Amino acid sequence: MRLQDQVAIVTGGAQGIGGATARRLAEEGASVLIADIDGDAAEKNAARIRDAGGRVTTLIVDVTRPDDLRTMVDTAVQQFGKLSILVNNAYGGSQRGQRGGATEVTEEAWEYGMAIMLKSIFLGAKYAVPEMQRAGGGSIVNISSVHGLLTAPGKLVYETGKSAIIGMTKQMACEFGPLGIRVNAICPGHIVTERMQARQWANNPEGIHFFEQQYPVRRVGRPIDIANAIVFLCSDEASFITGHALPVDGGLTIQLQEDLGVRLAHWILEHPQTQLPY
Ligand code: NAP
Repeated sequence: MRLQDQVAIVTGGAQGIGGATARRLAEEGASVLIADIDGDAAEKNAARIRDAGGRVTTLIVDVTRPDDLRTMVDTAVQQFGKLSILVNNAYGGSQRGQRGGATEVTEEAWEYGMAIMLKSIFLGAKYAVPEMQRAGGGSIVNISSVHGLLTAPGKLVYETGKSAIIGMTKQMACEFGPLGIRVNAICPGHIVTERMQARQWANNPEGIHFFEQQYPVRRVGRPIDIANAIVFLCSDEASFITGHALPVDGGLTIQLQEDLGVRLAHWILEHPQTQLPY
């Protein structure tokens, strides 16, 4: 077990990437606090972890609420005696009408996006770092995206937030390195979560095949792909890695777009019935 005696918080840990992360951290011996806005889903994931022999508790947390973040850290310490890992993963902005560029996005949507993606990480560190120091060190992993490395039209809020997470990760790594606290980010490619499968892909197998063609490894990601990378970054095996943003994206962000465009054009000609995802 690589995380024996560690205590972890996973925001948005009820399902999707955070759900798999909570399960993997527990499998590696960490005690886990699932901090999620959806209490029922958090309890369901916690039951899976307990059934597998893991130590876990849940707390309803809205990461846009500063008081919830403080309570989250206090609860982990009260329940498990210390805090050594914080995975900043929660996001739910797409329901809030954040789509569009600078001329479409509302100030309210901008502020919500910056609160859920950035202020939550700032305040999470403010409350978690003193506890990690008391614990003798720790690891923070911030979930960015390939959208933090490359950009797309119609997504001002998401692209700004996810790229700023990478900047904040570097700053915090410099700041907290001397305290024995490492800070890294992960940039996932397209990860088919339970929610995404149900909402987007269940009735569109051609669409997901089209997506797969965009990846050098010819598949999209699974939550476990990201969870495994998080376990690695939190383990002693990564003790000399800090301040980096690791793409876990099947090679999506390393290929030339002109080659990709030509290949996709061929694919579409060969599969004229494809229902394109966008
Ligand atoms: P998901 O399946 O939608 O799960 C996110 C969880 O976070 C849900 O349980 C959600 O609850 C919860 N949540 C939403 N708002 C919250 C808040 N304010 N406070 C606390 N919890 C909150 O998400 P996911 O696709 O796994 O994404 C996880 C992270 O990976 C996000 O940061 C996302 O930007 C990033 N990411 C995902 C992908 C991908 O392809 N899936 C790719 C790149 C990056 P509700 O169900 O009630 O909203």
